[in-house]
Amino acid sequence: MEHDAGSPAAGEPARYVAAPDAPSSSSTPAAAASATATPAAPPAAPPAAAAAGSASPGGFARLARLAPGALAASYADLCAGAWPVGPEQLPVVYHPSYNISFFGIEKLHPFDSGKFAKVVKALKREGVLRGDGQLVTPREATPELLADVHTEDYLHRIHNHNFTVVQVTELAPLAMLPNRLLQWRVVAPMRMHVGGTMLALGLALERGWAVNVGGGMHHASAGRGMGWCPFDDIMLGVRRARRAVAAAEGAGAEAAAAGAAGAAVAAAGGSGTAAPGADAAVDAAAAGAAAGNGGDSGGGVGGGSLKVLVIDLDAHQGNGVEHDKLTLGDTQLFILDMYNAGVFPRDDEAKAAIDIKVELKSGTEDDIYLNRLRAALERAALVLPKPDLVVYNAGTDILAGDPLGRLAVSPAGVVERDELVWRWSRDVAQAPIAMLLSGGYAKDSAAVISTSLANLFNKFDLNPAPGA
Ligand SMILES: [Zn+2]
Repeated sequence: MEHDAGSPAAGEPARYVAAPDAPSSSSTPAAAASATATPAAPPAAPPAAAAAGSASPGGFARLARLAPGALAASYADLCAGAWPVGPEQLPVVYHPSYNISFFGIEKLHPFDSGKFAKVVKALKREGVLRGDGQLVTPREATPELLADVHTEDYLHRIHNHNFTVVQVTELAPLAMLPNRLLQWRVVAPMRMHVGGTMLALGLALERGWAVNVGGGMHHASAGRGMGWCPFDDIMLGVRRARRAVAAAEGAGAEAAAAGAAGAAVAAAGGSGTAAPGADAAVDAAAAGAAAGNGGDSGGGVGGGSLKVLVIDLDAHQGNGVEHDKLTLGDTQLFILDMYNAGVFPRDDEAKAAIDIKVELKSGTEDDIYLNRLRAALERAALVLPKPDLVVYNAGTDILAGDPLGRLAVSPAGVVERDELVWRWSRDVAQAPIAMLLSGGYAKDSAAVISTSLANLFNKFDLNPAPGA
């Protein structure tokens, strides 16, 4: 599936319909929402979400699938504070315990485990964030939640055996410490990252965008952790999001049946687009209810049929998510993976799960990197179904000088990459985007991440001043 840079062949129809950079002043919110629908597309966002979206100049809010607050009940166990609904609270998820500090032992690994705090600090210093009150605080994913993807045997080992924690973190000295201490200082923070990713995916569906200032542990799969990744937060988050949407849309469909929303649907002028969507939601909700929390419904997809595109641009192949896609038989998860083929994990078996594969050579610089990314995104719009959600695994280990990624992209190249993916998601896929930070081990990783996030906030006006 590899392909060279270049435009799609002439005459080949583009599968996604591109939208103008900003909605034209003459288009109503309802028109903007219906324009995103193609025959294969999911039901348009309910009128409430579309109306809320019209207020955002950045253009992401109109991509929201559900109205703000619609998923609050579904995620109550993972949200430590108030569910963010107002514009002053941003869909940016962070917890101080993301930063693993282990009396200096963590410094044996070429991993800046304090980078998450540095990113948030820089964003506040630059005025990109107006304070901690704008952030969403996650809770740890419990072992019960992790069991939605991970095997009982693996969960037992990671929670009780030091050897398994050592395998995942590659920090041999940890083996000598009491397991209770390891759980507290290493495994629990990792579970917090999982909780954060789960929340971010849900928030993206309500707000059109979200960022987990952490997460992206793409090497972990059902029965195995590796490469500093104990849990497959991406697959866990996707499955949770599908169930949450099925439950919320099921509840919405019931209300519509009772007549409460009937007038609104009619007013939106949906010529049949709303009705099939509502039916599908009822079916999905019924299937989810029948399977119970944590159960599967149909093809291992797990409640609902949300189509998710994972764009994995970490320098390493995302083999954990890929193995889980194969194991679970997930036919609604699509993967675009662009990575250095010459470094860890070189997992040929997992490559079968990649829909669009771009393999890079060590030392790849900005021009080639960005051209191949553009071509891969163009290809995605041609050959993959239109996604309902984009999960963007934005590893910064592509930076020149990163000891593990071994690519040679400049800080400016990373900023351009992130903006490219966000713009593609908004204008071409017209899908909400949830960004995860994933790997990034160079000393300047945190600075580059905060520069790039600041650029996204600026370009897409993600945090408009009150009253603006
Ligand atoms: Zn990586």
